[in-house]
Formats: sequence, structure tokens, C-alpha cells
Amino acid sequence: MNIEMIGFDADDTLWHTEIHYLKAQEDFKGLLSPWATPERIDELLHANILDNLPRYGYGIKAFVLSLIEAAIHISDGKIGANRIEEILSIGKRMLAAEIILRPHVRDTLQTLKSAYPMMIITKGDLLDQTTKVKRANIGEFFSSVEVVNEKSPEAYTRIFEKHRIHPAHFLMVGNTLRSDIQPVLALGGAAVHIPADSTWFHEMVPGFDTAQNGFYELEHMGQLPALINKISDVI
Ligand SMILES: [Mg+2]
Repeated sequence: MNIEMIGFDADDTLWHTEIHYLKAQEDFKGLLSPWATPERIDELLHANILDNLPRYGYGIKAFVLSLIEAAIHISDGKIGANRIEEILSIGKRMLAAEIILRPHVRDTLQTLKSAYPMMIITKGDLLDQTTKVKRANIGEFFSSVEVVNEKSPEAYTRIFEKHRIHPAHFLMVGNTLRSDIQPVLALGGAAVHIPADSTWFHEMVPGFDTAQNGFYELEHMGQLPALINKISDVI
């Protein structure tokens, strides 16, 4: 494979993200405990988030709107302004949380930088994601950052056209089969799955065929340069 561009997912590939969502949901369940059990709150909140995805998209701001809406439903309209304010604070804490890179990320980017152009392809909120790249101090490694609404084959195709990338020369690295791996393989690219400690159920792909051409799986980012050396024609 002649790799002309390596794409990296951001959330839970470059830096930890899901951990902040799980913590926020725990705080939310505490706030709503006068009105429902943790299980019921989980169930209603998840239904609300999925229902809102087409309207609000991904990211923390969308998540907070769903928290507020779920809180109104769960409390049957009795949630007070104080608790709404606490929900807003949960979101602000998430936005301001320290960015912790996943293991081996910086070293690996440093190793690959001289040999391969690299870009970030991420879902979520434009302001939050571009700010995070700056705050994580890893912007120098990437030629561009693409923030998309949904990581569909169409979205990848638009990115390939914009940057004149041939899919057969594109390698994507990410933690979710649904967003980072499946669409890229479908377009004829290669993809490296590096699972995170926890993954949102929405991103899982039951029955995914791991024998597909161009599919690779690693335990951590530190193993990426060796894999690339193995599969690449151009070193
Ligand atoms: Mg991810």
C-alpha cells in the first residue's frame, strides 16, 4: 500500500473523551435521583440523545441540551432552575476538562510526521474540537482538521475530493468501527482499529467482519509505526 495520507479520529483515539461523558451521566443521575432510579434515567437519557442526534449532531453542547430535555421529562417538569444550572455546569466542566492524550500518541505522531502527511477527521462541535487540537498542542503534526457532522461514506468522499486523496492510498486510524473503520473500508481505503477502554453503544457494530481487506487492529497507538512499515510500499 502506498500511503499518501493518514487520517486520525480524535475522540478516544488521540485523547480521552468517553470518560467525561460517563462522569457527566453519573452526576446527572445524582441530580435527578429524587425523581427516578439510575436505570430509568439512563434509559430515558439515551433515548433522548439518539432522538436528538439528527437535530443537534454530536458533541458536548448537543449532549447538554439532551440532558436538560431529559431532566424536564424525568422530573415531569418539576426540575428547578438551580438544577438546570447545575446541568449547564456539567457541560462547562466537560468543555474545560484537561485534555489527556491516549498512551503513545505524541511519540507516534512525532515518529510518523517526517514520512507521512496526517490529518484529523472528527465528529462533534467545530469550536470544541478545533480548540482541543490547540490545547492538546498537537496541531503541528497535522496538515488539516476536518470536523464533520457524521462520519458517513459521503463525508469521507467529500474530504477525499477536497484534499485530492485517492481512497486506496488512505489509511484511517480510530477507535470506533462504525465511524472510523467501516466507511473507509467500504470506499477502498485501509483502516486501523485501536479500541478504547469504553465505547458508546451507538458506535458499536455487532458482527463486524474482521477478515475484510485493509482492516487492521492494534492494542495501542505505539504499535502503529511498525504496522505502517509492514504494510507500506514507501517508507
Ligand atoms: Mg472516536
